[in-house]
Amino acid sequence: MALFEKLQVPAKGRKITFQNNTLSVPDDPIIPFIAGDGMGPDIWNATKRVIDAAVEKAYKGKRRIEWLRVFAGLDAMPIYGKDNVLPDDTVNAIREYLVAIKGPLTTPVGGFPYVCMTCAHEQGEQSGKRPEKCPKCGSEWITKRFRSMNVTLRQKLDLYACVRPVKWIPGVPSPVKEPEKLDIVIFRENTEDVYAGIEFEQGKPATQEIIAYLSEKIGKNIRPDSGIGIKPISITGTRRIVEKALRFAIEQKKPSVTLVHKGNIMKFTEGAFRDWGYDVAREKFAGEVVTEKDLWDKYNGKMPAGKVLLNDRIADSIFQQVLLRPGEYTVLCTPNLNGDYLSDACAAQVGGLGMAPGSNIGESIGLFEATHGTAPKYTGLDKVNPGSLILSGVLMLQYMHWNEAAALIEKGLAETIRKKLVTYDLERQMQGAKVLKTSEFGTAIIENM
Ligand code: NAP
Repeated sequence: MALFEKLQVPAKGRKITFQNNTLSVPDDPIIPFIAGDGMGPDIWNATKRVIDAAVEKAYKGKRRIEWLRVFAGLDAMPIYGKDNVLPDDTVNAIREYLVAIKGPLTTPVGGFPYVCMTCAHEQGEQSGKRPEKCPKCGSEWITKRFRSMNVTLRQKLDLYACVRPVKWIPGVPSPVKEPEKLDIVIFRENTEDVYAGIEFEQGKPATQEIIAYLSEKIGKNIRPDSGIGIKPISITGTRRIVEKALRFAIEQKKPSVTLVHKGNIMKFTEGAFRDWGYDVAREKFAGEVVTEKDLWDKYNGKMPAGKVLLNDRIADSIFQQVLLRPGEYTVLCTPNLNGDYLSDACAAQVGGLGMAPGSNIGESIGLFEATHGTAPKYTGLDKVNPGSLILSGVLMLQYMHWNEAAALIEKGLAETIRKKLVTYDLERQMQGAKVLKTSEFGTAIIENM
């Protein structure tokens, strides 16, 4: 039986495989990509050219990526039907080929039943029927309300670690005086916490039943006019994200991992995250990791050479710490909600989401993605900054251990910004910079590799 319903798999190219905890990458890997909605295709085209050029320059034809186009959002609709914005083919291809990259995708935000996939406008029902055209942009590509494709991909592929490095590139405008001092990698748990989506609306019978149950059975009184959300945090979910963060720190010779939690208030969820995190370190990494307590009890406050320090900080304090003492932190490991806030706050410190790469990693699969949205007003204008997706491509190449190509892109990007050749979003904050289009920015990076 065919593996995919409608995908054109490249005739050449081989699969990346995963065995014994190791990714095995052939010289001609097949890598699926999702171009994305809105301005996604603009930034994807620039990114693909930059990645291909870096691979060619680094390996002189010995290595090359065979791209497999897979579909999600607007571009899936003409092929798979108007109500199928995330086809099984796409999920199956990423599962099959293990490493993939994606542009941003439209996500409905309001409670409306229809979404325009061209401009992200959401609208109400018109006599129960799908509107023929979007009243805002005139597009006929209207679909039914759907769940976030990003969240669905993370859940279906069990991509439990959202990994985001945050590092300043010299020349990028920043709101702080010394942006170079922040150089961290955030490991955010991606599957549980309040994002599990277990919510009960105010006034509904199920909500009233829960409120009555809590009052009668465990003596906890909740105002009767409350909505309720459930925040599950498990040993399983915690252990695997902390283990990933610790392994990363050990392999990359980072000095510390900090567990970020709000355990002083939420003892059995966030507090347990901290405790289970320390358990993982003691049980699995006793030879390589020193906890903050042991540092004082056993080592008199002097960190033994070559070991990773595991400490923890309360979530509100870490927001101050990354601003006031950024140099003291290298890897942060957090439950889902803290990580969501913290990733964007840290990205802002080094110049904003336009330059912040992201990745979602499971046991073997790595899905690399821009961290911003589809900015639909810039669709097709060849205007926006492709930096976030290009840097996600760098993470992807590093994940594949194609470090030479990754380094060339970093060099090309740094040099381009140093020469003050930038897209509009950076230019408006810089003195004497020249505005480039998305495609021109990609070309400049290639020329500066
Ligand atoms: P957005 O697409 O991130 O854009 C908001 C603003 O941020 C833009 O108008 C632009 O600001 C700036 N911006 C974003 N990306 C940029 C880039 N690459 N280069 C330069 N400037 C950039 O947020 P949104 O308008 O709230 O969301 C639009 C759609 O994207 C929604 O459907 C949302 O749900 C979805 N979304 C998807 C993802 C994802 O797929 N990972 C993430 C977030 C949002 P200026 O106009 O001021 O220059």
